[in-house]
Amino acid sequence: MDMQSYLYEQLDGGRVKCATCAWRCTIKDGERGFCGVRENRSGKLISLNYGLVSSVNVDPIEKKPLFHFYPGTSVFSLGTVGCNFRCLHCQNYSISQVSIDESVRGLVEYTPEQSIEMAKKSGCRGIAWTYNEPTIWFEYTYDSAKLAKAQDLYTVYVTNGYMTGEALEMISPFLDAMNIDVKGFTQEFYTKLCQTRLKPVLETVERAYKLGIHIELTYLVIPGRNDSAVEITRFTDWVSGIDSDIPVHFSRFHPDYKLTDVSMTPTKTLEETLDIAKKKLSYVYLGNVPGHNGENTRCPKCNSLLIERIGYRTKIIGLTGNRCLKCGLELPSLHAE
Ligand code: SF4
Repeated sequence: MDMQSYLYEQLDGGRVKCATCAWRCTIKDGERGFCGVRENRSGKLISLNYGLVSSVNVDPIEKKPLFHFYPGTSVFSLGTVGCNFRCLHCQNYSISQVSIDESVRGLVEYTPEQSIEMAKKSGCRGIAWTYNEPTIWFEYTYDSAKLAKAQDLYTVYVTNGYMTGEALEMISPFLDAMNIDVKGFTQEFYTKLCQTRLKPVLETVERAYKLGIHIELTYLVIPGRNDSAVEITRFTDWVSGIDSDIPVHFSRFHPDYKLTDVSMTPTKTLEETLDIAKKKLSYVYLGNVPGHNGENTRCPKCNSLLIERIGYRTKIIGLTGNRCLKCGLELPSLHAE
C-alpha cells in the first residue's frame, strides 16, 4: 500500500529531501531513494511498502536479541522488504536486497490494526519490527507502535541505527526497546562492508539512551574485519562512556551472501572478545553459540546465576523483579514482569 512519507521536505524543481534515515536522499520526480522503497511522485514522497509484510513470526524476545527486556516472553515479529544498507554479509538479503517491484506479489498486506490484533491473539507480550531495517517502513511502524502502546503491548526495533534524529524522536514516545547493530568500530568497516557511515549509528545509540529507550547492542564479530583487540577495546570504551550497564551481544559470524571467503568466528576469538569487554561492561553476551555460558546473566556484584539461557530456552533463576535474589543488587537495565 502507498502512504505519504511523514518526514520529508519539498525542494525546488519538484525534488524532495527525505528525513527518515541518515542518507537524507534528495530525490527527483519519478525517482526513488537509496532504499528503493520511497518514491517522489509529483513532489510528494511516497512510502511504497506500508503494511506489506515479507516475514511474520512469533519469536522469543531473546532472538532479537534482547536479554534484559521482559526475558522469557514472546514477541510478534514483522519484516518487509528493502534496506538502506548494502552489507556484504547480510543474513536476510533475500528480503533486504530485493526490489519491491519484483517481490510485491509475495508480500501480505496487514493494516496496523490487524498486526496488533494478531499479536494479541498469539499471546505475545509485544511487537517487533525486525528481519530487515524497521526505518524502511517508518510510517507503518509508527502507526502500529501507537496502537500497540494503547493495547499494552511493548514495542521493539531491531535496527542498524541509521535513522535520523527526527525519526527517532518522533517514534520514541511509543518505542520501548531497540537492539542496535554496531557492525564494527571503524569507518573503513562501514565503507567497505556496508556502504554507509558509522557516525550516524553511534549518534542513534546515544540519542536512544538519552530518550530513555531500553537499548542493547549487537556486534557481529567477523574474523579479520572487525575483531582486533584494539577495535573491540575502542568499542567497549565508547559503550562504557555512555553506560557500562548497557547489554552488549557479541555474535558469531557465519559466511553468507557476498562474504563467503571469511570463515566462521572461532569460539576462542569470541571468548577473548568477551574477556576484553568484561573489563569495562557489566553485561556482555555471546550470540550464535548455543549452550555457551556466555549466554547467561550473572549478578555483577555477587556473581550468582540470574538467568540461564540455552539457545532460546530461558530460565529465570536468581531474580525477583529486577533484583538479585542473593545479594539484593538492583539491575536498572533489566526490565522484567
Ligand atoms: S529512507 Fe533513507 S534511503 Fe530511503 S529515501 Fe529516505 S533517506 Fe533515502
